[in-house]
Amino acid sequence: MSGEDTEALLDALDRIDARLHDEQAYLTDLDSRVGDADHGNNLARGISAVTEKRDDLAEMELDEAVKTVGTTLVSEVGGAAGPLYGGSIMSASQTLDGGLDAESALAFAEAYREKLTERGGARPGDKTMVDAVTPAVHTFQRAIEEDDLPPIDALAKAVDAARRGVAYTVPLRASKGRASYLGLRAVGHRDPGATSTLFILEELLATATDRAGEASVTDAYADDAVARDGASETPADANADGAEDA
Ligand code: ADP
Ligand code: MG
Repeated sequence: MSGEDTEALLDALDRIDARLHDEQAYLTDLDSRVGDADHGNNLARGISAVTEKRDDLAEMELDEAVKTVGTTLVSEVGGAAGPLYGGSIMSASQTLDGGLDAESALAFAEAYREKLTERGGARPGDKTMVDAVTPAVHTFQRAIEEDDLPPIDALAKAVDAARRGVAYTVPLRASKGRASYLGLRAVGHRDPGATSTLFILEELLATATDRAGEASVTDAYADDAVARDGASETPADANADGAEDA
């Protein structure tokens, strides 16, 4: 295993794999209303190909592993979503070459959004995955840079913003992708790609929350160990502390 960041990525991929398979039929059903009824199947196939590479990914640094996720999605998912998801992940992976922290997570999110809009040419309001990604990334950025929130709280806000973004796609007509051929018939349905984006963000948040929970349990044991050490302090140690205070 190459390190804690890669371990976190593998945890996230396992969760995303389970979620996308759980939601495969639902996402495909959404795409049957506004597209060609394959979005859930496309993503399920893609994430399965990614998790098949689990052992290789485990040996990589975070940026290389994320890049491999992207290339795998490009080659396995196909359609519009493969190059959009995979290509954006591939090029944003460069921001993670120093590992994962608030700054690099934000740089990744911004690079992902930029690449996605550049590739697909969609703007907010075109009824695409951009309608989930744009508010999520902007909210994440504000929460970190302006409100100084811890990354996990910023991510929770970003997920809420993506959820509102998905709801916002319902009354829209589509201007990009297959759904744009439907005109008014796309109205009344949520966009499949925005919806899958939300599911993935929800799983990233769940992974971060889980791992933070485990870390705080470990910290609690560490505190406990310190307390027990403290209890066994000899009077000489206590005196030494007192002397330091004086
Ligand atoms: P396809 O449309 O080739 O069948 P999918 O069904 O897997 O591919 O993905 C459809 C989703 O891709 C849409 O719901 C939409 O969110 C997204 N999408 C399509 N075209 C674009 C685009 N130009 N920019 C951003 N997202 C797009
Ligand atoms: Mg489709």
